[in-house]
Amino acid sequence: MADAARKPSQPRTRVRKGHGQGVTKARPKAGKGPWYPAFIGSLFAVGASVVVLILVLVSRFGGDDPVPAVAAPTEQATATGTAPSGQPSATATAVPTGYARLLPCGDILAPLDKEHSLAPDCEPDDLEALPASISAEGTQSLRRETAAAIRKLFAAAESAGFHLYVNSSFRSYATQVELFDYWVRVNGLAYAERTSARAGHSEHQLGTTADVGFPGHFLEDFTGTAEADWLAANSWKHGFIISYPEGKEAVTGYAHESWHIRYVGVEVAAKVHKSGLTLREYLLQR
Ligand SMILES: [Zn+2]
Repeated sequence: MADAARKPSQPRTRVRKGHGQGVTKARPKAGKGPWYPAFIGSLFAVGASVVVLILVLVSRFGGDDPVPAVAAPTEQATATGTAPSGQPSATATAVPTGYARLLPCGDILAPLDKEHSLAPDCEPDDLEALPASISAEGTQSLRRETAAAIRKLFAAAESAGFHLYVNSSFRSYATQVELFDYWVRVNGLAYAERTSARAGHSEHQLGTTADVGFPGHFLEDFTGTAEADWLAANSWKHGFIISYPEGKEAVTGYAHESWHIRYVGVEVAAKVHKSGLTLREYLLQR
């Protein structure tokens, strides 16, 4: 709310900055008697320059914030913070979605990445709550087919001696706005861009993606565990792919996430696994 209220002031801040520079130039001349006539003259000149500068800046930056592509981190964070209290809109996601290609809603093979996005109102209509025995952090929901597949995956893990949980699953556009904004505030924009998707760009919005862990080992703390190794070696057999594998950040756009698996169906998962490509590469060239 407070952030939303601050946003419209951004262009005015730029104007004030220009005005401030004019005042700074004039200040040293104050109080120097012998220079007074010259001072008055230069004051007029500076004043006129400031007026012209303000007019130029207002005409360039005024209105509806047309420069999101070069926005400072704080401005982007502010922009992402506008949606939770209101309805998600194009302005809520700042940079990429303005240039993103919109994907059809409901396609489990949609090549979601930093360039491709889902519409704010895209939500699956067959979400199913997972049993509490495999859910952490409250109720977790996935699309019906994905929920069935993850139960089989976890049953196989159980047979191997690993008890896995889902600690994040379907996330709405609005939730993703809040989450991305949270990571910007906590770790800065550059870190957030590597580890969190902007709203509309998250695979979690598909309802076919889960973050997997086990008690005490979620997110980064899952990486390097025997459970993570098992998941990497076996998830494809049950239709899941680790979207952001190690050493592929330049291709996927995201840092390694051993815990983040996306359901694409057993057949496609086997093909992706065999291809050696990242899921993004496979889906884009499909
Ligand atoms: Zn995830």
